[in-house]
Amino acid sequence: MIFKELGSTGENIPALGLGTWGIGGYEAPDHSRDKQTIALLEEAIEMGYTHIDTAEYYAAGHTEELIGEAIQSFAREKLFIVSKVWPTHLSSKDLPKALKGSLKRLNTDYIDLYLIHWYNPDLPLKESLSAMAEMKKLGFIRHIGVSNFNTNQLKSAIAVSSEPIVCNQVLYNIEDREPEKELLPFCQKNDITLTAYSPLRRKVISENVKNILEKASRKYNVSIYQIMLAWLLSKERVVTIPKAASVEHLKENLQSLELLENFELKL
Ligand code: NAP
Repeated sequence: MIFKELGSTGENIPALGLGTWGIGGYEAPDHSRDKQTIALLEEAIEMGYTHIDTAEYYAAGHTEELIGEAIQSFAREKLFIVSKVWPTHLSSKDLPKALKGSLKRLNTDYIDLYLIHWYNPDLPLKESLSAMAEMKKLGFIRHIGVSNFNTNQLKSAIAVSSEPIVCNQVLYNIEDREPEKELLPFCQKNDITLTAYSPLRRKVISENVKNILEKASRKYNVSIYQIMLAWLLSKERVVTIPKAASVEHLKENLQSLELLENFELKL
């Protein structure tokens, strides 16, 4: 595993985490594969996927429940669990309730990194971030971050938050490169971790980009998905969380780390 510093906390987190959207259902819970899913999550953790990304929204809480089951046989302090609060739960009254729900489902006393899932223009950011700071003081959250915030929204969050905003989780992959214009340089300059979600673009890749990836995959003798991950991980301040639902994919994605030593991809 490769580790990168989370924000400017001095704490290093695994640069390759595990995404869980679709694990145990999408918008609604799907219980049909619970046993296999828990076993797969346990295997993933054993392999080194100790950084796990989830959200209260995923499968209406069921994804958190499955993770909660899987983590029971591991030392909690070895794990880095990220969860997210949905934008309709951001008031000072609702946020603590949402967090307690996540903690209960995850079967844990604390979440390592708690993110605002999406910016909500109808609620003052200060109110949400103050509620998060309070939860941090009480020990229910270790670090605070945001997700899907553009640069201006991130700047506003930093301006009103009493606690450091250590991370912004956004769509970023070899094809969706909007963050490179402003957000990534801002994060790099201000020591904020950028977590790239949908790093494999859910396998929907244009012909043009596919050609570039295939050329690189022949050069390095790896899959195009490993190239996509190595490309992200080679960037300063970027960590990523591919979702994988098979041992083969989990292993393959971990192997992308081996590529990094001499990796160069010109686009
Ligand atoms: P993704 O990770 O880009 O792609 C997942 C897809 O890639 C799955 O179909 C998976 O198949 C496949 N895959 C994984 N490894 C592979 C490999 N080595 N070879 C071939 N195919 C492979 O998409 P994502 O799930 O959208 O993004 C990752 C995570 O980011 C999510 O799970 C979630 O935790 C987070 N996310 C956050 C937000 C947000 O708003 N903050 C939004 C979207 C996503 P299998 O499932 O069959 O293994």
